[in-house]
Amino acid sequence: MANIGVLIETTDKGDVKKANFGVMTAARGNGGNTVFGLLIGADAAACKDAVQAYGVQKLVPISAAGADLSSSPDLQAKALAEAVKNFDINVLFGLSSSTGKDLLARTAAILNLPLVLDCVGVNLAENIATKFHFAGKTFAKIKIKAERWICGIRPNSMEAKPAACETEILSYAAPVHDTGRMKIREVKKGDSDRIELTEADIIISAGRPIGSAENFKILHDCAKVLGAAVGASRAAVDAGFAPYEMQVGQTGKTVSPKVYIACGISGAVQHFAGMKTSKTIVAINKDPESPIFGKCDYGIVGDLFEVVPELTDALKRG
Ligand SMILES: Cc1cc2nc3c(=O)[nH]c(=O)nc-3n(C[C@H](O)[C@H](O)[C@H](O)COP(=O)(O)OP(=O)(O)OC[C@H]3O[C@@H](n4cnc5c(N)ncnc54)[C@H](O)[C@@H]3O)c2cc1C
Repeated sequence: MANIGVLIETTDKGDVKKANFGVMTAARGNGGNTVFGLLIGADAAACKDAVQAYGVQKLVPISAAGADLSSSPDLQAKALAEAVKNFDINVLFGLSSSTGKDLLARTAAILNLPLVLDCVGVNLAENIATKFHFAGKTFAKIKIKAERWICGIRPNSMEAKPAACETEILSYAAPVHDTGRMKIREVKKGDSDRIELTEADIIISAGRPIGSAENFKILHDCAKVLGAAVGASRAAVDAGFAPYEMQVGQTGKTVSPKVYIACGISGAVQHFAGMKTSKTIVAINKDPESPIFGKCDYGIVGDLFEVVPELTDALKRG
């Protein structure tokens, strides 16, 4: 029996991000663990129903007396580290998202604990984490010898299984103070109506041949009908056709949607590293010899400028 913490991420609207539910499922292990949901800058009451459906027994909104935690990730990590000590947490889980990678790494450094990021499997009984290596070419099972450790889970890589419980809200004011050495000056939000890549069940992405930012409209039109998020390869981002926040791959976002539709993407190993855990991969490529056809579940040989609008029309017709 162990105390397991889950750093919970919320949307701009204050809802618990769907990708957390697989993390909570992993945190429960085979049962018998006490799962602490740790919240920073979110309303615990608004999150309670969602987390109690996934077995989070203690929900802890973390604050800091006399300091604004939203002002710096450094301060948030210090507060998180204090919460880990205060609630005697053995393993701290979070998402390997941009927020998770930042906060979990800082917290591990403060507490001097081992950190394993981007895990796609965890065995809590044996303290083993599974993650891909070498841009997804191999995977490693890492045995953590320390009693306490920190683990980032690749978003949506683990199945979310509900297990209802009674959730108790415990507030916690961390004894941290703001040194003022780091301050968030500005947060530039993307289009809040669009589905976040790491949260999406379906993603449709375009590569270099999309040719311009304007041409992404055909993907957005299709995404609207599918309820999908829109991604891009690095070649499309480097060419200025899409912002970096849309990049999927080794140096972009790691995603595990139910369906990933790659349009005009060659299937380079660095792109694949970011989406290979998608449940179903569909490729649209005009070159029948393209490597992506060796890596997808369904392939359509064709010009994306013809196939994508046709797909959108077909979906609209139902
Ligand atoms: C260290 C490092 C990190 C990297 N990180 C990433 C990363 O995070 N993400 C990433 O994506 N890449 C990454 N890359 C780059 C990666 O190696 C590839 O260069 C890149 O993924 C290629 O992008 P692409 O498939 O869009 O373009 P291309 O390689 O140019 O492929 C375009 C494909 O579209 C097809 N095509 C052309 N016209 C059409 C059309 N009209 N309709 C349909 N198909 C068409 C072509 O047949 C081709 O297969 C990284 C590289 C390095 C070295």
